[in-house]
Amino acid sequence: MFHIAQEDDIRKGRTTDVYFVRTMEVLKAKGIDKRVRMEVIVKGLPDDGAWAVFTGLEELTEVVKGLNVRARAMREGTFIRPYEPVLEIEGIYTDFGALETSMLGLICQASGVATKAARCKKAADGRPVISFGARRMHPAIAPMVERNAFVGGCDGVSVLKSAEMIGEEPSGTMPHALILVMGDTVSAAQAFDEVIDKAVKRIVLVDTFNDEKVEALRVAEALKENLYGIRLDTPFSRRGNFARILEEVRWELTTHGFGHVQIYVSGGIEERHMASLNPYVDGYGVGTTITNARVIDFAMDIVEIEGEPVAKRGKMSGSKRVLRCTRCFKDSVIPLEEHAERCGCGGDQEDLLVPWYDRGAFLFQTEKPQSIRRFVLDQLEHFGLER
Ligand SMILES: [Zn+2]
Repeated sequence: MFHIAQEDDIRKGRTTDVYFVRTMEVLKAKGIDKRVRMEVIVKGLPDDGAWAVFTGLEELTEVVKGLNVRARAMREGTFIRPYEPVLEIEGIYTDFGALETSMLGLICQASGVATKAARCKKAADGRPVISFGARRMHPAIAPMVERNAFVGGCDGVSVLKSAEMIGEEPSGTMPHALILVMGDTVSAAQAFDEVIDKAVKRIVLVDTFNDEKVEALRVAEALKENLYGIRLDTPFSRRGNFARILEEVRWELTTHGFGHVQIYVSGGIEERHMASLNPYVDGYGVGTTITNARVIDFAMDIVEIEGEPVAKRGKMSGSKRVLRCTRCFKDSVIPLEEHAERCGCGGDQEDLLVPWYDRGAFLFQTEKPQSIRRFVLDQLEHFGLER
């Protein structure tokens, strides 16, 4: 058997921490039914990042639907900063409190992946970034991981099921296995060109047997204009100065009349490598750093009980508005009932936390992955990589 929970286990709270179950047992035995507001916020971001991308809302609908609560949420794909509530749920605590573990799990991991994908997309400075890391995660959650890589800004995903679920064609080149089994890079490239649907770009791996420069030229001579690109997945033990290798390959391709050939790189590529590789690279295959991104440590806390603001130490009580200036993108968090002033820069303030669910009905619908991704990329122009 696979070691995974089924959908119903998640919806019915069987993936929750036992201490919530015991809490419900105590409250029910004592007849305590209190109306609370709980908010979901994060205090600090991975690697001291200044922002994160909030995702996971579509999956969260699966847990929330049918609950007798009201909720406000941010639009999926919203860039958030620490201490800004992304979700607020209001209802009888015993009606939803036990679902906390699952609710957080759905948004913490999704947002972590989307955030790292957005950071990589920013670091790649306009170049395509393809999610290649499904193999590092449990296959049962590959579609979830790759959806969030995609909405976070990745241009494509490699796994069939992930691509199908987001309505995209899967992206990929060729593995070392094809070249090893065929016995030669050029024969493998020719066979691929002969057999595979013409709609698939011919991107040939050139690091299997020989020097990348030599292989790149051999493949370019053989495939000519059919060759869309080459991929260097050069092992770390052979890399030395990877940027110099790429510069040399680029130079030789151009010098020999193959300036049209794109250069893709993969193999342990991280956000921090991209600035130095960008001058020679046309696209990236990024794996572990995105699929295994640090999660966003969202926490869910009570901020109001029976209409009275209350919070544990270290948290601000009461229901809140999160405002973002539409001109300078500065945020402010104010009490729910407070009037929003104009931003200091003169720009308009927009409410990020808006009514999402009211006892059975969703007040705004989840968007298509392509639309969330567009929203993320638009915001990404206003957010940098500084920490
Ligand atoms: Zn402003």
